[in-house]
Amino acid sequence: MRRARTNPAAPGHAARSTSLSLPLPLSLPALVALLVAPGLLSSCGASDRDRPDVLLIVVDTLRADRLGVYGNERELTPYLDAWAATARRFDAAFAHAPWTLPSTASLFTSLVPQQHGAGGSLALDPARGDGGFRSLDPRIPTIAERFRDAGYATASIVNVDFLTETFGMTRGFEHIDAKTYASNREARSATETTDAALAWLEVNEDRPCFLFVHYFDAHAVYSPPPSFRRRFADPRDREDDDFVFGTRAQMIRLRTGELALSPDVIERASRLYDGEVAYVDSEIGRLFAVMAERDRADSTIVVVTSDHGEEFLDHGGFEHGHTLYQELLHVPLLIAWPGRIEPGVTSSIVGLADVAPTLCELAGLSAPATFAGTSLAPYLLGAEYPPQHGHMAHGNFWGRAKRSWTEGEFKLILDLSRDAPGARAELYRWRADPEEREELGRALPEVRRRLIGHLVDQERRLPGLGTGPRAVLGPEELERLRSLGYVGEDR
Ligand SMILES: [Zn+2]
Repeated sequence: MRRARTNPAAPGHAARSTSLSLPLPLSLPALVALLVAPGLLSSCGASDRDRPDVLLIVVDTLRADRLGVYGNERELTPYLDAWAATARRFDAAFAHAPWTLPSTASLFTSLVPQQHGAGGSLALDPARGDGGFRSLDPRIPTIAERFRDAGYATASIVNVDFLTETFGMTRGFEHIDAKTYASNREARSATETTDAALAWLEVNEDRPCFLFVHYFDAHAVYSPPPSFRRRFADPRDREDDDFVFGTRAQMIRLRTGELALSPDVIERASRLYDGEVAYVDSEIGRLFAVMAERDRADSTIVVVTSDHGEEFLDHGGFEHGHTLYQELLHVPLLIAWPGRIEPGVTSSIVGLADVAPTLCELAGLSAPATFAGTSLAPYLLGAEYPPQHGHMAHGNFWGRAKRSWTEGEFKLILDLSRDAPGARAELYRWRADPEEREELGRALPEVRRRLIGHLVDQERRLPGLGTGPRAVLGPEELERLRSLGYVGEDR
């Protein structure tokens, strides 16, 4: 979406028509060469550095520990790893909820789930047939509205119902490209998602752009394209896709305890998930490469993150939405702005609610008064690291009702189920024990008590902004969510 008129001599510009001019996959050396070149990712728009473009990428269901730059050694993410050398990486970034709707709503509104109201839980009231979901409160400002009101072209390219208008998640986006399907195996692929992003960028040349791109491939059911299957799947699953795990029927049986999870099955599922992660990585690499190829003197702020992780028996379960352990809350967060943001690593605790005020400040926009997160912009632009602040998560979709509080080296998980008085709390040293194996509540009762107090205090002080109207689902949406295992009236 660059402005040809302002930069007529841009090499490779005039005749370039679509996103598909580069081979797929771009070789890694070629990408690295693009990544280290000046002007990286400056293809989408603003000629004025005061009006940078913004590309906000959410890879659904991406555990931080699957990225090489977050310590993974299986080389699943060579493109993101190479690009990360140009970005600020937050190694202690956490989602505020372990599933898509409330987590992404926090990203959009800079509020925790108790405030923005979007979320809900698995159908506890089957007679109503709507899964008990609540959409984003329409009174609460979103990041897309802020950029739209500032004159930006705004677009949302998403691949799941929870990010659609039904759930209030498209407010502020002028262009809405939402693809939803009856089965995750039919969902729009990362290749098609990247194509859609590039196509929109290309036709929006005259305004600064704010583009939200959502990749859904790493969400169950895992079925990577053949080349990624051959590289990363269990040897039994490299040549065919007969092994399927994560279907609706399986998820319902899993949630009701009828389906036993064998380590072997989960290991096979995990390897297929790895293949999906690698596939998405290659497509983000292609997105970045084409944007760099569309040579621009302007700049784009790029954020890559996820809405939550995925459990593969880390704590005895599978999938997401059911606990607040690190495998679900610890997400990648990488922010780049060539020539402006100093690459490096920040280890302070940050949350997805911090992203929206950060983008506002980087773009020179005032943040809506309701944005409660901390802008990381000063620290991205050279100030000292942000002070450690506490992080709250809340909003299981299924499983027991819990919330967590992370502060300093400790993380508290409080069980709020009716049959579990508040005393049921787990305590971990999340940095020293990132897998949360050693529960310390009994050994450190004072710490546990202090963190419970801080969590309760924080919650009391939250302004009660949104209640989240009950989402009204049409028959088609209901059927799609049913097919994805998100509506469980037949459990
Ligand atoms: Zn999700």
